[in-house]
Amino acid sequence: MTLCLGRYLKPDTYCANLDDLDFPAFFEDGYRLVLLDVDNTLARHGSFAADEYARRAIDRAQQAGLACRIVSNAGKKRIHAYAATLGLPYVAWARKPSTRGIREACRIESIEPEATIMIGDQILTDIVSAHRAGCLAVLVRPRYNQEALHVRLKRFFERIVLAAYKLKTGKQRRKKRS
Ligand SMILES: [Mg+2]
Repeated sequence: MTLCLGRYLKPDTYCANLDDLDFPAFFEDGYRLVLLDVDNTLARHGSFAADEYARRAIDRAQQAGLACRIVSNAGKKRIHAYAATLGLPYVAWARKPSTRGIREACRIESIEPEATIMIGDQILTDIVSAHRAGCLAVLVRPRYNQEALHVRLKRFFERIVLAAYKLKTGKQRRKKRS
């Protein structure tokens, strides 16, 4: 049971923030596309514009040779505005944990899911959709603590998962694409 669930819930890498990710190592391991969640991964929930933290992460990924695209469950109007401040293409209303948004992003970029990394702050949406699509699943600790009630309920469940798998933020695990 644990192993079966773990296939979908357990991130391949768990990091404290985006600054901890080694993008050149991802490129070296064969990855070519980075898909990023927005709310509480790149930005505060509800943001319309990127800050220095988000710009730094995107710059580092692109300098490592990785294509970047936003894949968010938020609506098109806000994600269009947010993505424009980073000069990034996007898929809005992605409906994670559905794989729809990830598959659409991979198709547009002509990069297979196996060479794609999905980075997000929520296990039940970002990590599950990444595993279901066949991407590398990277969990990042939420940027901010103030969250809506339904998200806080999901955080409770996430803490159980993180404890069950003894997951702690730390060094990026190397996992070459199969
Ligand atoms: Mg998020």
